[in-house]
Amino acid sequence: MPHEVRGVVAAKKGAPVEVQTIVVPDPGPGEALVSVQACGVCHTDLHYREGAISDDFPFLLGHEAAGTVEAVGADAGGLVPGDYVVIAWRAPCGTCRSCLRGRPWYCFGSRNAAQPMTLLDGTPLSAALGIGAFAEKTLVAAGQAVKVDPAARPEAAGLIGCGVMAGYGAAVNTGNVGRGDTVAVIGCGGVGCAAIAGASLAGARRVIAVDVDDAKLDGATRFGATHTVNSRGTDPVEAVRGLTGGFGVDVAIDAVGVPETYQQAFYMRDHAGVLVQVGVPDPAMAVELPLIDLFSRGGALKSSWYGDCLPTRDFPLLVDQYLSRRLDLGAFVTEKIALDEVEEAFARMQRGEVLRSVVVL
Ligand SMILES: [Zn+2]
Ligand SMILES: [Zn+2]
Repeated sequence: MPHEVRGVVAAKKGAPVEVQTIVVPDPGPGEALVSVQACGVCHTDLHYREGAISDDFPFLLGHEAAGTVEAVGADAGGLVPGDYVVIAWRAPCGTCRSCLRGRPWYCFGSRNAAQPMTLLDGTPLSAALGIGAFAEKTLVAAGQAVKVDPAARPEAAGLIGCGVMAGYGAAVNTGNVGRGDTVAVIGCGGVGCAAIAGASLAGARRVIAVDVDDAKLDGATRFGATHTVNSRGTDPVEAVRGLTGGFGVDVAIDAVGVPETYQQAFYMRDHAGVLVQVGVPDPAMAVELPLIDLFSRGGALKSSWYGDCLPTRDFPLLVDQYLSRRLDLGAFVTEKIALDEVEEAFARMQRGEVLRSVVVL
């Protein structure tokens, strides 16, 4: 029996999202039906609504969720009803050229549910990032549902599914921050604060938070920033050098994703330092750097997709760090909202007033 539930739908480009009744099929082979308990509001949901990701309207939004498995189809890989899960938008296929080379975080064939969820009239919905979790129930590939310790509160655990993992992984996986490193993070929203937390947990000696908003910089210290720089009135490159004996940091993370912050991150590195770009740029943006500086400063310029995470390895770890009070996931949750308050949450997110609004079902 298909399930009729409420979900947040972006019907057409730029139009406000609305709660509609959607139809969620029972799981087929390799699929899982998840009863959603919480789902964070992410910038990517807003980008879908604005038509910035694709024109495949209508979209079922939401992709940062925790919930309970309600039913599974055949070949669900050991997943059973009652399992408490965080939903991932990367479920490595195991057979593409990246997976076969032991690099599943670059998988080209990440799995999603085969059956579409639909509107009542049968119109298929495009699920945001292959998830669609601003809904009472959602259908995903079984491999997307990653079991974690059920002691974790859903509004906190769900955030691991996107923003927290992206930031944390940018520092730990992509930047490979290690004991004694110096790190700077530009942009102290949810992703930037998660990068700060990851760098701190990895043993960084200094973690310098850079932002133009003093309130965000205050917040960054809760996640482990040892120093803060307000770049509105100060040159952040000079400030970061000043805090690192004149040298710059080992790892600079751009969690904003505009040319100006990318250049700041490039020049605030020590020689042979690593730049990690995790902020997603607008397609029209370009950056210009002297080729001689690229050569003579050495190091590495890396991009971090979803924190280069392997969900089955990383999600349970982050949940354990949360439960042992080393990773304060609760501090990312600015407010809990209802399903019909997502549109207002987008506005608050755009004004920079929240780290995360989380829909609780
Ligand atoms: Zn997201
Ligand atoms: Zn693969």
